[in-house]
Amino acid sequence: MVRFVGVENMVRWVRSIGVEQIVADMVDYLEADFTRWDQFDKTPRVASHSPYGVIELMPTSDRQTYSFKYVNGHPINTKIGRQTVTAFGVLADVASGYPLFLSEMTLLTALRTAATSVMAAKLLAPPNASVLSLIGTGAQAEFQALGFRSVLGMLTLRVFDTDPQAVQKLRTNIEPLGFDIVDAATVEDAIAGAHVITTCTADKTKATILRDDMVASSVHINAIGGDCPGKTELDAALLMRSNIFAEYLPQTRIEGELQQLDPKWPATELWEVLTGASPGRTSGDQITIFDSVGFAIEDFSALRYLSDSVADTDFFETIDLIAEPSDPKNLFGLLD
Ligand code: NAD
Repeated sequence: MVRFVGVENMVRWVRSIGVEQIVADMVDYLEADFTRWDQFDKTPRVASHSPYGVIELMPTSDRQTYSFKYVNGHPINTKIGRQTVTAFGVLADVASGYPLFLSEMTLLTALRTAATSVMAAKLLAPPNASVLSLIGTGAQAEFQALGFRSVLGMLTLRVFDTDPQAVQKLRTNIEPLGFDIVDAATVEDAIAGAHVITTCTADKTKATILRDDMVASSVHINAIGGDCPGKTELDAALLMRSNIFAEYLPQTRIEGELQQLDPKWPATELWEVLTGASPGRTSGDQITIFDSVGFAIEDFSALRYLSDSVADTDFFETIDLIAEPSDPKNLFGLLD
């Protein structure tokens, strides 16, 4: 039998622990796994592109446990009442190959994306950062805001979205939780005085959400919306005068903001900063960019955390996923 966390149990689990605690715990799991980077099999994700969006498989293994996530990215979906991103994922036992744990990952991806953003910002944001700018206030936005408050104590949000209803939705969802939310009229207004800028827009195009001339210095940019070939958010000139950090460069150079630059353009993987192999922020006036695309080890960590967390609870059920005949050579016998 395989343990399964469906949407209903995921919602009960998140409500019982709270988004902020989950993001904080997940950062610990992410840091533990990124620190043992060499133990993992790593490959850029396998992407199937169409005019509508992309469907991706994201596998990894630490040679004891294997995981993969199925995830889509369809910015047009919200126009027909569907989400841009949905996902599910699996943990399996490397020794037998049997799946052990299956989970919905639409909510879990939002939590792990926030946790990864926070892990990067812990290493790269200017000291005492307190103002977070959010450009794009769709499905990921509240998770980002709560994650940054949980770990970095950031309480002031300056927000902008081309859809005013998305901003109102964010306000309704999280203003009662004690955030100070400033509704900005333009991107320039939204980033004024911000210490961290999160770009989290969805458009399957080479967009320029942040132009080079908009951004002064002393800021960390958490660029999460540019995550596919032909789908970017930042001006190439801004990238070129910043220090760029990524999850796994062979994937980010295909999918991230880095796709706009020479394939050899210098950039640093986060695990290098975590282990002290490379520096993170080295001066106050620097612009650092986390060119986030989402990498398989983050989903591995998120599933590992969820699996541990629900182990002695009723937040999962068991499902009959694998055919197990009593004589393993007599599969046909199951049909008798
Ligand atoms: P969403 O469709 O729910 O929200 C996107 C928001 O961006 C919408 O409210 C839209 O109105 C707004 N927007 C679009 N163009 C804009 C512009 N030019 N200026 C300001 N706002 C604009 O999508 P989501 O689930 O919140 O995901 C956001 C992005 O993050 C997507 O591109 C998605 O693929 C990406 N994503 C990345 C990761 C990662 O790990 N890096 C993880 C999850 C999602």
